[in-house]
Amino acid sequence: MEGELFSDDFRTTPYWQDIAPSVSVPKMELPCRIDVLVVGGGYTGLNAALQTAREGLETLVLDTEHPGWGCSMRNGGQVSTSIKLSFSKLVKRYGKDVATALCQEGQASLDYMHHLSDNEGLDLGLREVGRFHGAHKPHLYETLARESEAGHPVWNAQTFMVSRSEMASELGTDRYYGGIVYPHHCSIDVSRYHPSLLKAAQEAGALVKGNCAVLKIERSGNAFRIQTSEGILKAGKVILATNGYSGPLSPWHQRRIVPIGSYVIATEEIPEDTVDRLFPTDRILSDTRKLVYYYRLTPDRKRILFGGRVSLSETDPRSSALKLHRDMSALFPALSAVKISHAWMGFVGYTFDTLAHCGEDKGLYYAMGYCGSGVGMASYLGMRVGQKAAGTDTAPSAFERISNPTRPLYQGNPWFLAPSVLVYRLRDRIGI
Ligand SMILES: Cc1cc2nc3c(=O)[nH]c(=O)nc-3n(C[C@H](O)[C@H](O)[C@H](O)COP(=O)(O)OP(=O)(O)OC[C@H]3O[C@@H](n4cnc5c(N)ncnc54)[C@H](O)[C@@H]3O)c2cc1C
Repeated sequence: MEGELFSDDFRTTPYWQDIAPSVSVPKMELPCRIDVLVVGGGYTGLNAALQTAREGLETLVLDTEHPGWGCSMRNGGQVSTSIKLSFSKLVKRYGKDVATALCQEGQASLDYMHHLSDNEGLDLGLREVGRFHGAHKPHLYETLARESEAGHPVWNAQTFMVSRSEMASELGTDRYYGGIVYPHHCSIDVSRYHPSLLKAAQEAGALVKGNCAVLKIERSGNAFRIQTSEGILKAGKVILATNGYSGPLSPWHQRRIVPIGSYVIATEEIPEDTVDRLFPTDRILSDTRKLVYYYRLTPDRKRILFGGRVSLSETDPRSSALKLHRDMSALFPALSAVKISHAWMGFVGYTFDTLAHCGEDKGLYYAMGYCGSGVGMASYLGMRVGQKAAGTDTAPSAFERISNPTRPLYQGNPWFLAPSVLVYRLRDRIGI
């Protein structure tokens, strides 16, 4: 019975891979010496490389797998300001100045995606479709309404509420008690952004090499001695762009990143009238659960991508697919017989303060910890650390002004994940 939910051509690779244009990454020998080594070929690494290469620095991007293998070709393509904490929480924690600066950079990350699309000519498929964020409990609708009425002290949110009786104009489900719309949030076509970025970085002069893991980074005078799976090289500067895949390469960073699996399914193609009835807009979608569901239509409006965290511990995409399908069908009973064509997962990089971080230590730069919301922020902070390594950006980012916490005894193995998910599940049941 369960097997019937998988289409004949079901696969456990991201849907985006099937439709992505291919960009060739020429085979190359490892150079002996370069100015900047970028570790990781996702949004962070390539946006950084774009900047350093443009400044004439010899730049090499290395990835253990093929560039884009990580989250940057696995995500849901939802773009927000990436700041998850409320302004009042930020003020309480850091004071008004830093809180304001953090939110301004959240806005800057969203603006940067428009810049890439409009001024750099990258092919992102960026569309300002807005986000509908559903209230899964009645009192949470009231909380959202208060947020909407207060507005945002830093960015011009222009949010508006959709009551339960108006829901049909946004979404074909009666499972939400209304919701809020963030009209400036965007969607991208994930299949197009990374290939386009990769091409741009290469055209700017960056060398990109896949299937080459960086194994050790040691300081050597003013530079770095780098051990890779293909030999040794020297680098003047290093940019760490490994996010949720940050292993033991840098124990300091590993102790600050919590890798958490996020899971997605794509459905088989759905009849147009069903799509139009359930999804009358092209908005990106999420809800008030702590274990949030995030979903949307594919850019061609033929399938649904439905993602979330549905298991206590990490599991294989096939078993999580059935749970995601169950939860999607609970929201949209009309989809209960629709088959799953793809199921995949990836490791997002969480942090202990739910904020991204970037910084520098004597020529070693990093940006990571986007907490599952990194399409815009990884791109933006990648760009900024690239400019810092190139010496063209000397102003500190707000994310450098805050400490980057870890926890005693945490070495990179999130043993506390299952109990935390259980607590969140209970909180979601009650709505707290
Ligand atoms: C299922 C899923 C859905 C998501 N949906 C959204 C969404 O809708 N909106 C949103 O904003 N964010 C989303 N995200 C998060 C977003 O995709 C990431 O925050 C972003 O892609 C991070 O980019 P990155 O370049 O920092 O890391 P990645 O793209 O993960 O790249 C890191 C790279 O580093 C490489 N690497 C690691 N160690 C080494 C080493 N030692 N040597 C060489 N290479 C190494 C890895 O192979 C990997 O390719 C989602 C993530 C997942 C998994």
